[in-house]
Amino acid sequence: MNSSRGAVAYGDAYGDAYGDAYGDAYGAPALVGGASGGSLSARLAEAGVERRSFLKFCAGVVATLALPPQFAPQVANALERVDRPVVVWLEFQDCAGDSEAFLRSRNPSVADLLLGMISLDYHETLMAAAGTAAEKARDDAVARGGHIVVVEGSVPTGIPGSCTIGGRSARDILTSCVRGAAGIINVGTCSAFGGIPAAGPNPTGAVRVSDVVGGVPIVNLTGCPVNADNLTATIVHFLTFGGFPALDGFDRPLFAYGERIHDTCARRGHFDAGQFAEQWGDAGHRKGWCLYRMGCKGPSTFHNCPSVRYNEATSWPIAAGHGCVGCSEPGFWDTMSPFYDRLPHVATRDFNLTADRIGLGVLAATATGFAAHGVGKVVQHRVAAAREARDGDDADKADKAEDVSDAAPVPEAGEEGGQAI
Ligand code: SF4
Repeated sequence: MNSSRGAVAYGDAYGDAYGDAYGDAYGAPALVGGASGGSLSARLAEAGVERRSFLKFCAGVVATLALPPQFAPQVANALERVDRPVVVWLEFQDCAGDSEAFLRSRNPSVADLLLGMISLDYHETLMAAAGTAAEKARDDAVARGGHIVVVEGSVPTGIPGSCTIGGRSARDILTSCVRGAAGIINVGTCSAFGGIPAAGPNPTGAVRVSDVVGGVPIVNLTGCPVNADNLTATIVHFLTFGGFPALDGFDRPLFAYGERIHDTCARRGHFDAGQFAEQWGDAGHRKGWCLYRMGCKGPSTFHNCPSVRYNEATSWPIAAGHGCVGCSEPGFWDTMSPFYDRLPHVATRDFNLTADRIGLGVLAATATGFAAHGVGKVVQHRVAAAREARDGDDADKADKAEDVSDAAPVPEAGEEGGQAI
């Protein structure tokens, strides 16, 4: 809980995380100041973590960061020398699901992580202190500066007094805690994009963190909940290279959000072959066929769920037989519901080939199919409306999103090029 600050520096490496900067970072001094109490290796040793386990952890993080395996010992060397950064974890309009995910970090366990990698000076749910003592721990950490602010949940701005903690509003707490911070990590879709609290009619006036504060590097680790491995990898990257990883147009790390779920999904072969589950529990569903027609939003969602998975990498929704609900995308939940209505007009890797064409060989264009296609267009229109709204205040980001998405405008069934599958 104590800290001595070192210099916080963001060199040229920041924003060019996959360039030459990696090679230089290992020989550089620790860029992030942190709590006193010894190096990470000493901390882990105190916690009973064997070096073999530590190196295994480093190899896992390097894999999550999509770096070559040769980087593992170099990351280990860098981590062993770095001081622990102070972390202030704020919770606003949330379900604590991201804290739950954090608690289920694997190898090292959350206890090792807390003791070794970071100094978690404030976390309403996890810290032992309460009341004035807890507030003081937070304020002391902020006063020293150079800390990382982790935010879970959206910020209510429409109801005075909501989310008030210790007599202070969420907006006030967030604004004061960000002052002097080295960076903000938004965990979960609510703090990153507004999430479920911001879904229509948004009675609390919920907004994303970046609508309230700025001037500090922000990384969005979206998902409902955040994937703890992506959080760990982001922190390790920050400690090793002195900054956040390369980001996409929505401030999400490319290592975690650079690929579409649909393109790395284990069921993709069935999609390409036109093999779809049509009902829960039918033969196709039992055989593990594609869930596109059951409403899977994987074709419009970017996340590394297929490779990292959840719950200590045991499974994830599509592996468990349920379609992706698109929880890591802007506008979730409004733009991704109804969850069981399918997305229309999904292209494959061959951008000239669509699901409509693929499906023709195995399915008839029945009246039911046309009806379903009409429902699918509602989803498409919602996505388009959300993009239009986003274009208004953030045209660059919306353009990037369009660049990476291959979803195309959908002709109505019966129009030229239109099909119902
Ligand atoms: S539609 Fe969903 S289940 Fe089917 S391949 Fe794409 S991501 Fe996987």
